Amino acid sequence: MNDTVNRNAAKTVTDWPVSEVAAGAILTIDLSVIRENYRRLKARLGGVRCAGVVKANGYGLGAAQVAAALAREGCDIFFVALLAEGIALRKAIGTGPDIYVLNGLPPGSEPEAVAAGLCAAINSGAQLQAWRTVAHDAGRRLPAALQVDSGMSRLGMAPAEVEALAGDSSAFDGIDIRYVMSHLACADEPHHPANEQQRLAFERLRAMLPRAPASLANSSGIFLGPSYHYDLARPGAALYGINPTPGEPNPMLPVVRLQAKVAQTRRVEKGTGIGYGHTYHADGPLSLATISFGYADGWLRRSASAAWFEGLRLPFLGRVSMDSIILDISALPPGRLREGDLVELLGPSQSVDDAAGHAGTIGYEILASLGPRFHRHYVGG
Ligand SMILES: *Cc1c(COP(=O)(O)O)cnc(C)c1O
Repeated sequence: MNDTVNRNAAKTVTDWPVSEVAAGAILTIDLSVIRENYRRLKARLGGVRCAGVVKANGYGLGAAQVAAALAREGCDIFFVALLAEGIALRKAIGTGPDIYVLNGLPPGSEPEAVAAGLCAAINSGAQLQAWRTVAHDAGRRLPAALQVDSGMSRLGMAPAEVEALAGDSSAFDGIDIRYVMSHLACADEPHHPANEQQRLAFERLRAMLPRAPASLANSSGIFLGPSYHYDLARPGAALYGINPTPGEPNPMLPVVRLQAKVAQTRRVEKGTGIGYGHTYHADGPLSLATISFGYADGWLRRSASAAWFEGLRLPFLGRVSMDSIILDISALPPGRLREGDLVELLGPSQSVDDAAGHAGTIGYEILASLGPRFHRHYVGG
């Protein structure tokens, strides 16, 4: 009996996805725009292949939905960060496309990766050895990308490790090396000297390894020019509408719209304290709207910001709460904004990059932080 009750309770709290009427906020994701952004990147790449990076649940937008949309544009190579993400993505999209696990396979997990038909990104000699052993046991060659550290110091084989392998003729037995890859640390700063240094280091490391197609560019790397394109580009952010050329006009189109519902409106008199800690006091009579959206939905508490309604900016007042934010709606005619109406947090009035700028962060963090409580509405599929 108790068991049944507990199970039911557990079911109600995990009963996502939420309906539009039950949700506090609505996240609209336009898959046709993701496809258009992919086409724009492909156009820039000429004939070079273009993968889709869908780690962190497709930068918060839904890895399965994004990958399916990209597949319809002919994209057949995907990158995730974790094995768990790779297994989930394989279940969602079925056999066919290659899925690479960028962070490498945790020791002992290799058979699971093989079972899911995943490609390893090999970041060390130990990982190479482990993948060879599994290939031997499986009795067939297993696909991999050799990731080398060309100067970011994050993931991939260090130069000394690459040199050691270069002299070992059997090191790659049983491995189907599909790519040699590396990642740029400063690609969003086109004049940063590290870009060319990394490109040259990549050339040197690649020359020591078995001949294979090469991959270096992320979204911003694509805009560094053809010498960074090699055989495969790996954009993530640009697909999702984040500007890959900060400081320049965004060559990508916006993909998401985030709208929150008004939970209540009120009038307050001059001097009234607003929100937790009374960090704000009304400097005159004000009209307020409280929206059902807060830091539990991924909007950073420290970020001062605003929502938008019919082209009008509605500033946040006081602190961001877990489930709510108080807006100053005094600029609107009385009664114009009512309970249940939607205000915009992300969309035509405020881009992901704008919101990131206000919050002192980057668009990547805004998207990856988007919470699980929204009603997610996919259009353009
Ligand atoms: C995240 C990631 C990418 C994609 O980077 P964006 O800047 O989002 O385009 C490509 N390669 C690697 C190794 C990554 O970790």
